[in-house]
Amino acid sequence: MRGVVLEAAGTVTVTEREHPRIVEPTDAVVRLAATCICGSDLWPYRGLEPADHLPMGHEYVGVVEEVGDGVRNVKVGDFVVGSFVISDNTCEICRAGYQSKCVHAQFVHGTIGTQAELARIPLADGTLVATPGRPDADLIPSLLAVSDVLGTGWFAAVAAEVGPGKTVAVVGDGAVGLMGVLAARQLGAERIIAMSRHADRQALAREFGATDIVTERGDDGVARIKELTGGLGAHSVIEAVGTQEAMTQAIRATRPGGHVGFVGVSHGVTIPGEELFFSGIHLHGGPAPVRRFLPDLIQLVWDRKIDPGKVFDLTLPLEQAAEGYRAMDERRATKVLLTV
Ligand SMILES: [Zn+2]
Repeated sequence: MRGVVLEAAGTVTVTEREHPRIVEPTDAVVRLAATCICGSDLWPYRGLEPADHLPMGHEYVGVVEEVGDGVRNVKVGDFVVGSFVISDNTCEICRAGYQSKCVHAQFVHGTIGTQAELARIPLADGTLVATPGRPDADLIPSLLAVSDVLGTGWFAAVAAEVGPGKTVAVVGDGAVGLMGVLAARQLGAERIIAMSRHADRQALAREFGATDIVTERGDDGVARIKELTGGLGAHSVIEAVGTQEAMTQAIRATRPGGHVGFVGVSHGVTIPGEELFFSGIHLHGGPAPVRRFLPDLIQLVWDRKIDPGKVFDLTLPLEQAAEGYRAMDERRATKVLLTV
């Protein structure tokens, strides 16, 4: 089977990989309908995380081709959406809604690698959720978005306690930030401030529900948020980048008693204890427990109430994955869908 491998930083190949088979009775093999490239894939691509012959990809939708003897919740022929973390969905941590920290958690990235024709999904009963039927082709991008970027943006909004009457600021205009805007709208936020300096992403943010755009960054960006909120700061801030600048900006843009939901994969971020202490804010984040939200988000897409698939602005065949990485690295594309 064909699959994407990051041979070394900057070197993406599409190559022949071992055909996935059932190993454990709790496994399923899924034939992917579509997959995509994540902003977080750019960290190893840019050499900022180890990259040595990594099977890439952790977002996936497709049709179950084979199941182990112990699988009960999905069957051959089901169309399924999975999360980027394998989880049993039964342990105490899962039952509390934190499936990305399951006691049996395994990251799909770098091990299974779903930028491929097929994938072996362990703990299929806990990890996969079947859609109500075979989706129309035009729903596939949105279902794929549910698998990570929407689930992650949604978690960020929930972690930031977004709700009716609240003002939300979103730091980061990548795919996850844009999904945070969509989530904030769905969760009833009154005002949604998207921080973005790219015209195309600003337009998409507005389409997803942003009411205001702030182009300033750093302390100037914070000052602008304060100006827009009567000097107080936002109730809820979504941080969807993972850099020091973004995290600092998120903390400083939040009003006392407010909440930061941070989902940008943290790289070299430190938070001074004194600043945190005197800010009087709540911080909650981490790898999103996407599995918690899959059933509800699949239904919203199925009922055509949301269209998160619009976040894909470039579609390429799997064989051209290297061009997809280049396009995202050079910011020519926000998010690349790979057809399988
Ligand atoms: Zn668990």
